[in-house]
Amino acid sequence: MVKRLASCPTCGCSGEFEFTGIQRWPAEVAQRLDLPTTTYLWTCTVCETTICEQELHPFRSKKSKTDKLTEPAVTGDLHLG
Ligand SMILES: [Zn+2]
Repeated sequence: MVKRLASCPTCGCSGEFEFTGIQRWPAEVAQRLDLPTTTYLWTCTVCETTICEQELHPFRSKKSKTDKLTEPAVTGDLHLG
């Protein structure tokens, strides 16, 4: 049984999620909904809601739009042409 820690958008709890299965969308539908063709489904062990990977809030992740400001700038050499 695959489990992961995450924050549940439904009940707001931070807890374990059980891997439920894989949801596959036809390419046409995925494009329209702006989703990947393969989505992983997780079930909250607290409220038993099934949530897709995209809606799962990563546990202890500090990623946000504002974090980009503090990230080091990309200083790699640019070789154009
Ligand atoms: Zn929940």
